[in-house]
Amino acid sequence: MLLTLLGTASARADSAHSARSGGASVKYPAVTGLKCTTGEKTRCPRGSLLRLSGVHLDSTRTVVFLGKRGKRDDRRVRPRTASPHRVLVRVPSRARSGRVRVIASAISATSPRLRILPKPTPPPLVPTSGPLAGVFPIRGEHDYGTAINRFGAGRGHQGQDVLADCATPLVAAVAGTVTSTRYHSAAGNYVVITSDDGTSQVYMHMLKRATVKRGRRVAAGDPLGEVGQTGRASACHLHFELWTAPGWRAGGAPVDPLRLLKALDFAS
Ligand SMILES: [Zn+2]
Repeated sequence: MLLTLLGTASARADSAHSARSGGASVKYPAVTGLKCTTGEKTRCPRGSLLRLSGVHLDSTRTVVFLGKRGKRDDRRVRPRTASPHRVLVRVPSRARSGRVRVIASAISATSPRLRILPKPTPPPLVPTSGPLAGVFPIRGEHDYGTAINRFGAGRGHQGQDVLADCATPLVAAVAGTVTSTRYHSAAGNYVVITSDDGTSQVYMHMLKRATVKRGRRVAAGDPLGEVGQTGRASACHLHFELWTAPGWRAGGAPVDPLRLLKALDFAS
């Protein structure tokens, strides 16, 4: 689901410099980098936001996903925002892998190659009954907050926040293997569990380090720790992410986990 840049930014005629023609100074745009909302620099799923960085990008009117040679698979879109050093654009639903061009009036600049991935489809719901049933991860009173707590809120909120009192017990929603447990300045204490189908669940802002070690198998309902507000958080809450296979930071993409959470919540 992400894009892949093969090769590095080519400077060529797109090169970033100002030239004088007939006394007028022309600012040539140049694209030097790409970054997908998933955090990857070379791949991006359709429907995701892509950031192009470079110089003289502020007058970008159109972004063209060039795809293969020839114009037939070109997909032209308007940028969502354009500033001197960055352009934000949504990857069109029919974009193909290839370079990306920014067009500012008559001048254009082309990025390195980007690999377009299919739009992520929501992973199947974890069963809410039976032997493989999932469990709602917060064992106590909770609520889903407001619009700002939703997946996709603001720029790049990749999970759903569930508000609960500090120190409310937190359990694994889904069985799997602990693939990461660390502290991060924004995520706080967090733990990642990857299920056998390759999907990952991420639990952030935990009160203390997770009580499970990396590599350990957990069943749905196994204790992970407690709800907290470590990292960048203004109140105690669980920031919960759901990633498609092959999982968190392994090539998967985040998808809206609210449907899963509400189904588990209803069944718990
Ligand atoms: Zn959050």
